Amino acid sequence: MSSPGFEYESDDQSKVSKADRKVTEAEVKHIDSETTLTCTCKTSCATARCKCNKSGAGCSPACKCAACINPLNALSSFFADENLRASPCFASWIRAQTKKKSKSKSKKGKRDSEPDFDLESDETREELLCELMGVEDSSEKPEGDVFDEDGMNAEMAAWAVEWGILDMSPERRKEMVDEILAYGLADNGGDFYSFCRGDWAEDMNTSHCTSCGDCQDWREWHCKKCNRCTYGVSLPCQGCGGVSSSYHDL
Ligand SMILES: [Zn+2]
Ligand SMILES: [Zn+2]
Ligand SMILES: [Zn+2]
Ligand SMILES: [Zn+2]
Ligand SMILES: [Zn+2]
Repeated sequence: MSSPGFEYESDDQSKVSKADRKVTEAEVKHIDSETTLTCTCKTSCATARCKCNKSGAGCSPACKCAACINPLNALSSFFADENLRASPCFASWIRAQTKKKSKSKSKKGKRDSEPDFDLESDETREELLCELMGVEDSSEKPEGDVFDEDGMNAEMAAWAVEWGILDMSPERRKEMVDEILAYGLADNGGDFYSFCRGDWAEDMNTSHCTSCGDCQDWREWHCKKCNRCTYGVSLPCQGCGGVSSSYHDL
């Protein structure tokens, strides 16, 4: 925030007529899950510089990547569905966990106090389930507005009611866990679980900016010139005076 160049509009810029303002909003390409993504990374595919990773997907056999350790490769078994991709917020979270893990590994002799993160382990699944349910133990009643019976989310409310059934079969329980994980963590255009906020977010008014690595109000847009989000689709970027892609249509 304090880096030079992020000043309020200079007098120069305020003289620029509205019609002349340049669009500097970064394009957010939504790639549907039908499209097969491929990359040609020379490095590990572990960061958002990898096209597949950036889109919340693991690498596929069609990728020409060398030494691939894309942490999202585990998603198809995690979601039990090959066509699901991680929501932008979940993908950022996974990247952060992977970074932490490799850091703690490199500190020799020091045992990691945090439980190992592994998308394919039952422990990680259970942890994520509890996080989504807002509880310490998944046998508890889920907490939070998203599970409210007269709330906005009928699907999760119905989920919570069924979760309360005591003698559920293990098969049905597994299905229900798959359901809530896909609902809260996959990129499906609906409400999602925001790790940035530690709560569920409505897709309509929140989105996770992959460049900033943070969940933002929908009125924020990402200025590619300043490489940060800026508030107000009808307001010029405070850094460079550029405008959002919808500015000229408003
Ligand atoms: Zn890659
Ligand atoms: Zn790839
Ligand atoms: Zn790869
Ligand atoms: Zn987020
Ligand atoms: Zn941003």
